[in-house]
Amino acid sequence: MSTHILTDEERERFGWQIMMTGFGEDSQVKLKQSSALVSRVGGLGSPVALYLAMAGIGKLVIAHGGVPEMGHMNRWIMSPYEGVGKVSPVDSVIDHIRKLNPTIELVGVKESVTEENVQELVSQADIIMDCPPYFEERHLLNREAIRQQKPMVEAAVCGAEGYVTVIVPGETPCMSCLGFHSKDWELPFPVIGAVPGVIGSMAAMEAVKMLTGYGEPLKNRLVMYNGETASYQTIKLKRRANCPVCDQALVFQ
Ligand SMILES: [Zn+2]
Repeated sequence: MSTHILTDEERERFGWQIMMTGFGEDSQVKLKQSSALVSRVGGLGSPVALYLAMAGIGKLVIAHGGVPEMGHMNRWIMSPYEGVGKVSPVDSVIDHIRKLNPTIELVGVKESVTEENVQELVSQADIIMDCPPYFEERHLLNREAIRQQKPMVEAAVCGAEGYVTVIVPGETPCMSCLGFHSKDWELPFPVIGAVPGVIGSMAAMEAVKMLTGYGEPLKNRLVMYNGETASYQTIKLKRRANCPVCDQALVFQ
């Protein structure tokens, strides 16, 4: 099936977004030709994968090791209760998404990001969706995305709060510039499932924008959402001089 044109069914299926001013059929074709790596499909990665699939992205690579625990069941929206302790969230998410978008290409990897697999995982996608609860995995993805010159949507939640920003190598600060570290971070952390729902949906929207050229992606800006007060705050970001990750990468270009 050609990815350069839309089928009649795709024109109908995605008609309500194609009709958006500034989006159109060209953007839909770009999405069809695009791919994303979703690193972990728990509370945050599930809505990310769901909305990218529903928007008509051509391919999703879904990477997540392990199985759901009972404590995940307030937010892992695509992992069934019966699968707790048994069924990989990769299988659950792929099953679910296939029913919603039967033409998407789905690649399941039942491993989370490691030093060993990060290069291969990042190489399979046009954009990286950073959704793990561990900063070690986030920094591995950040470093590799910079190395391969690929954009990454960086999203995270804790308690009633969450943030989203878009990292573009050479254009914006990276994770290391921002000084996000694992210090003082441990699991379990407090969270209400609707919060990763909000932040994951925003992250998916940023990916749609980056992949199609629609709108103004969250580059050099970070949006903080506070569910307790129902408020948003936008913080301007700057690259850090001598950043050991993205400054070095530019030197070697
Ligand atoms: Zn940096």
